Amino acid sequence: MRKLLVPREHLAGRSLWRQRAWYAPHYVANSLLEVDFTVLRERGVRCAALDVDNTLVSHGGMNMTPEVIALLRQVREKGVLERLVLATNRCRSVDQLAAHIRADAVLQHGWHRKPSRRYFDQLERAVQFPPEAIAMIGDKIWTDIYGANRAGMVTVLVRPLGGASVV
Ligand SMILES: [Mg+2]
Repeated sequence: MRKLLVPREHLAGRSLWRQRAWYAPHYVANSLLEVDFTVLRERGVRCAALDVDNTLVSHGGMNMTPEVIALLRQVREKGVLERLVLATNRCRSVDQLAAHIRADAVLQHGWHRKPSRRYFDQLERAVQFPPEAIAMIGDKIWTDIYGANRAGMVTVLVRPLGGASVV
């Protein structure tokens, strides 16, 4: 996140432009490790929803790097954020991953998967924060950024691990 704030306010006003703005993240970062969580906190974010594949771990993987674990633990322990949640379209348990960083997980449920509105409603209910206090951090513009922007969340696009496409 160091430190591109996408100026999308000028797009608001006309519906077509507003829809296009849904694809624009509020922030971009080279990786999860470069996300400045204090900037999010200052903006009113209290909970981070983390995409799993290609954001937290490589696709299909189950191992976070020690640096990622340390960063996320620090974010919690210093009280920068109050809650972490894994927001993934996986249908199998990611409890093992979540336990390392004391997070909960919201998996796909039938057709309720990112970027559907129902998935993000489910996420809001799980964390019990209003959307403007939740930052969705992910590597895909369509599933992570578009869906979370429509739900009224703060969005952070990270470069995918392993150099996959962001679309
Ligand atoms: Mg992903």
